Amino acid sequence: MERVYNFSAGPATLPLEVLEQAASEMTNYGESGMSVMEMSHRSKDFEDILEKAKSDLKELLNIPDNYVILFLQGGASAQFSAIPLNFMNKNNKADYIITGQWAKKAFEEAQKYGDVKAAASSEDKTYSYIPKTTNEDFRDDIDYVYITGNNTIYGTKYNELPDTGDIPLIADYSSSFLSEPLDISKFGMVYAGAQKNVGPAGVVIAIIREDLLGNENKLTPIMMNYKVQADNNSLYNTPPTYGIYMAGLVFDWLKRNGGLEKMKEKNIEKANILYDYLDNSKLFKPTVNKEDRSLMNVPFVIGDDELEKKFIKEAQENGFVNLKGHRTVGGMRASIYNAMPLEGVQKLVQFMKKFEEENV
Ligand SMILES: *Cc1c(COP(=O)(O)O)cnc(C)c1O
Repeated sequence: MERVYNFSAGPATLPLEVLEQAASEMTNYGESGMSVMEMSHRSKDFEDILEKAKSDLKELLNIPDNYVILFLQGGASAQFSAIPLNFMNKNNKADYIITGQWAKKAFEEAQKYGDVKAAASSEDKTYSYIPKTTNEDFRDDIDYVYITGNNTIYGTKYNELPDTGDIPLIADYSSSFLSEPLDISKFGMVYAGAQKNVGPAGVVIAIIREDLLGNENKLTPIMMNYKVQADNNSLYNTPPTYGIYMAGLVFDWLKRNGGLEKMKEKNIEKANILYDYLDNSKLFKPTVNKEDRSLMNVPFVIGDDELEKKFIKEAQENGFVNLKGHRTVGGMRASIYNAMPLEGVQKLVQFMKKFEEENV
């Protein structure tokens, strides 16, 4: 079986070069005589892997010196609890912008811990746009504002960040992390589950402004305490060592391939091919407000269940897999992360054109 074009939203496609490098080092890493999986997390070899991953990430995103980089576990979803526990403790208040299911889940979880309000929402139009906000939309005594930077399920993204003044902005960038440059200095915290654009499931990368640490709720489970994780350089307990190693290989791959400016260029080129076709197709329709379209997750519909099933099935038979939309929204979704080659998108569009000709 040849490798397919995998349009899965996550766990998702990874660069072949990276997988091959990992395969070549699988049983014997460097001079260690063992696999990274078999290595102590306190060994010199692993320490080097962790430090290189951190310094490459810092370089890729130009992370300022007053931010810590953490490798955490529990998925992005564990941070939905950890964020209020760590940060909602001065006034016990936070505002959330609800742009999709992930934001909503984070919002509902945070409500357990304090006075949490939805400052804006795009639920009225099935999350097909990013609601515009001004500073006035936020209460002035809140501990933070929370957003989802890229909405994996609905295919929207923030192109202009909400103006929160001095209030820390916390953002879930799970599905677009490292797809383009991001000005970390505008955030109190940015985090991302690795399995969308960075590596295997099991690692969450968190970048946190140092002065926000150390103010956690007394009941915060120790594993969710960001200050403890920071003080221990993500080694409070055994971290997801192999996942960190893989993320490190992806960071190195990004650096070798021109960094995030170059990645953005490539991602825009890929997304435009797909959106241009969708905007002109007589069969397929894009679902997202033009100015808010994600570069990573592209949902589209035909509007006929039978035809959609047929499309997904025939696509699969032709090597374009995982195009089914999220179970809650139906239709189709092509996730075209960093590792999806231009050729994969070009061939998908060719296939869609052919399907359109045969079925209109
Ligand atoms: C996938 C995803 C999540 C959930 O990630 P888990 O690691 O499964 O908890 C949260 N937020 C966004 C934006 C996602 O894309």
